[in-house]
Amino acid sequence: MKNSLLIEKAYLSGAFISSKKTFEVINPSTLKPVGSLPDLTVKDCQKFIDTAHKSWEAWKSTPVGERSKMLRNLYNLINEHKQELAEIMTLESGKPLQESLTEVDYANSFIDWFAEEGKRAYGETIPSLAGNTRMQTIKQGVGVVAAITPWNFPLAMITRKVGPALAAGCTVVLKPASQTPFSAIALAKLADKAGIPKGVFNVITSKDSKGIGKELATNEKIRKISFTGSTSVGRTLMEQAASTIKRISLELGGNAPFIVFNNADIDKAVKGAVSGKFRNTGQTCVSINRFYVQEEVYKEFSTKLTEAVKAIAVGDGLKKGTQVGPLINSEGLKKVEEHVQDAIDKGAKVATGGKPIKGLFYEPTVLIDMPKDSVISTEETFGPICALFKFKTEDEAIKLANDTPFGLASYFFSENVNQCFRVSEQLEAGMVGVNTGLISNASAPFGGVKQSGLGREGSKYGLDEYIEVKYICFGGI
Ligand code: ADP
Repeated sequence: MKNSLLIEKAYLSGAFISSKKTFEVINPSTLKPVGSLPDLTVKDCQKFIDTAHKSWEAWKSTPVGERSKMLRNLYNLINEHKQELAEIMTLESGKPLQESLTEVDYANSFIDWFAEEGKRAYGETIPSLAGNTRMQTIKQGVGVVAAITPWNFPLAMITRKVGPALAAGCTVVLKPASQTPFSAIALAKLADKAGIPKGVFNVITSKDSKGIGKELATNEKIRKISFTGSTSVGRTLMEQAASTIKRISLELGGNAPFIVFNNADIDKAVKGAVSGKFRNTGQTCVSINRFYVQEEVYKEFSTKLTEAVKAIAVGDGLKKGTQVGPLINSEGLKKVEEHVQDAIDKGAKVATGGKPIKGLFYEPTVLIDMPKDSVISTEETFGPICALFKFKTEDEAIKLANDTPFGLASYFFSENVNQCFRVSEQLEAGMVGVNTGLISNASAPFGGVKQSGLGREGSKYGLDEYIEVKYICFGGI
């Protein structure tokens, strides 16, 4: 496949660079290589940081209107190259092409949003208590930002960090996941074309996530680290960032509950369940992990969901009609197999699926009569498994939903407006989907509570993550 954006290089100071040592990126659908990229070292990483640091001076003084125009150019270029970007994404992540096309739009919506939002970093005037001062605040970018992103959304997890960072006048060193770095380099190519000055956005590729992560988290020149990935890596980065008191945003794992109450519209709930569960083969941090269904509707919901799941087409993301692709790698597949086996061993029944297909593919699965002590009730599966638990009362459902150290997304279906208010207020989660399985968009604050993270991405709050408030006091008036 010819694709002008598939570039086997890293991006430093406006140049596409190679190195002797490289690593391969594997297509999880075919298990064949997509290509190779420079396997850069911690020493190289220091060069990336120095470059971003040097470029910060000019970038922060560039008028916000100009920065906004460059982001707008980037937005237009992403639109023009949508098909190529989506193909790269499908090749390296395995997600169906239609989903990749949707992700490109979603990713670009953050560029669109922050190109505008950057212009609205308003300061304030503050009434002077004694009257003899004049007090004001201004908002300034925090400085050099390190962004570390995962493989499950190879483009969108980048733009929702890089969009606000650039808009706020910060420069960036990005370390994309080693499974999906080609989408990041393609973005760098378009940023280059958009006129974003050299050194402002840099992309380091490496297999040494640990070493590079530590350098980014401890180097004094980095003022902010923004990470999306697992809770355990987030915890490590937070500890490391403490050494230089860096600003930090963490978007970590979830264990999303999906509650179906007796008075829910069951057909709507089934639709919501399928969209909230099978996007990206269940490998998103807001994917439903635990279904809690109230007694009276348990049978109807499980029967209708099973029918819907049986109809899902699994295959190579480039094949027309594919709805669900493979797991990202053999560890991901192994985790799914172990979670299903554990549930079966403890008494769950398989309504459909329950087996690997071939390669990294796994059957879309519905498990019913889930036992309370199964691993799925406490750990994120990150796969195409619907695990259905039964409950009796609203209080019980809320207790079960909140019985986790995580608190990212949660969902419930109910046609009773009073219940909708009660339950949404009691769920311990950063985000609640009421009668919907899809909640993410650029204008909404995305983020978690408890061990699901710190900070919010997207929305008007997303810009604040990259901004310091400076207070200025004029005395002797
Ligand atoms: P996932 O389960 O999504 O792969 P990870 O937290 O392992 O979650 O990975 C998310 C991102 O963090 C990836 O870019 C990965 O390369 C990077 N990463 C993994 N380990 C570390 C680490 N110790 N320090 C910094 N980054 C890391």
